[in-house]
Amino acid sequence: MDNKKLAADKIKNAIMDIQEYIGNGEYNGDNPPIYLLTATLAIKALENQIPIKPNLEGDGYDNEGNLIYGTWLCPNCDAHYEIDYDDYNYCPICGQKVDLSDIN
Ligand SMILES: [Zn+2]
Repeated sequence: MDNKKLAADKIKNAIMDIQEYIGNGEYNGDNPPIYLLTATLAIKALENQIPIKPNLEGDGYDNEGNLIYGTWLCPNCDAHYEIDYDDYNYCPICGQKVDLSDIN
């Protein structure tokens, strides 16, 4: 098993552990208990650590007619970044881990 999949599996297991603790996480009241707010934030933060491939946008064609991609979009917040220039492991806006292996 490759390391990326192993890391993602560990994160998914941690999320499941938290979900098991909070049940369905639903609370019908004005002031949800602090543990529920904290657990929900923790799940969101953990989900952001699982890398997702970005969406790509083409901006022209090469001499053989192949689409050239110039922009990648964060899969979580749709922020636009320039390929070959904005080389991030995490989206600077929302913190989503991105897998740019297809475009590097
Ligand atoms: Zn983002």
